[in-house]
Amino acid sequence: MTEALRLEDVHKSFGGLEVLKGIDLALQRHEVVALIGASGSGKSTLLRCINLLERVDGGRIFLGGEDATAPGADVNGVRRRIGIVFQAFNLFPHMTVLRNVCLGPVEALGIPDDRAHAEAEHLLGRFGLREKIGEYPDRLSGGQQQRVAIIRALAMHPEVILLDEVTSALDPELIAEVLEVIRELAEAGMTMILATHEMGFARDIAHRVCFLDQGVILEQGRPERIFSRPEHPRTRRFLQRIVAAGRL
Ligand code: ADP
Ligand code: MG
Repeated sequence: MTEALRLEDVHKSFGGLEVLKGIDLALQRHEVVALIGASGSGKSTLLRCINLLERVDGGRIFLGGEDATAPGADVNGVRRRIGIVFQAFNLFPHMTVLRNVCLGPVEALGIPDDRAHAEAEHLLGRFGLREKIGEYPDRLSGGQQQRVAIIRALAMHPEVILLDEVTSALDPELIAEVLEVIRELAEAGMTMILATHEMGFARDIAHRVCFLDQGVILEQGRPERIFSRPEHPRTRRFLQRIVAAGRL
């Protein structure tokens, strides 16, 4: 097995607030890890640190064996190798779907227009969006926009994709189509970390579940085990709340 990503003792504070208190996490290639935990536990911060959108205060992050946090590391190079998709779709509103998907490959990777277009067309077709290629984002449903956002990340051929609560802003009836895209990526072997409240989905597709609590990974393991026999009382309490809210 080859290691895709490794975090060693990652720390991050905002002012006096320590949000990540020493995170160790290693991902093999093709592995899907679900990050669960209460709001405010540090999931987004962790994903943002991995993508170097936030600078870590301590610890190291290795991407494909290279230290992405070393002084002088190529920050933009690292970001190009890690896709990130947020809760809010963040598509460029003044660009068509095609332009949104092609922008990164053309501008950041230097892929010729015609090749980038052909690939975008192929990806959009694969995820049922071929007929939306010339549309602007505001003509798409939230579910379609989020699928385009995931495809846009995919078009960069990232080594890892980070998904931060990508279904949280969607109407319930639009969630399934986005989860389907993620499921297909998982089946295709994409290495992913997904912060999610969709516990049933996490149980279904993740190889491993990490429970983040107040800035530490309190417990991790196979989804069957975490969801049926959580060891830590705090994990148990969190899952009980999730069950009570009808989310598992
Ligand atoms: P989660 O995604 O699990 O809900 P976050 O990573 O968004 O958690 O937030 C963890 C904590 O860090 C929260 O207390 C939040 O208010 C704080 N935080 C996140 N980003 C910032 C920031 N840029 N500045 C100050 N505090 C922040
Ligand atoms: Mg968050």
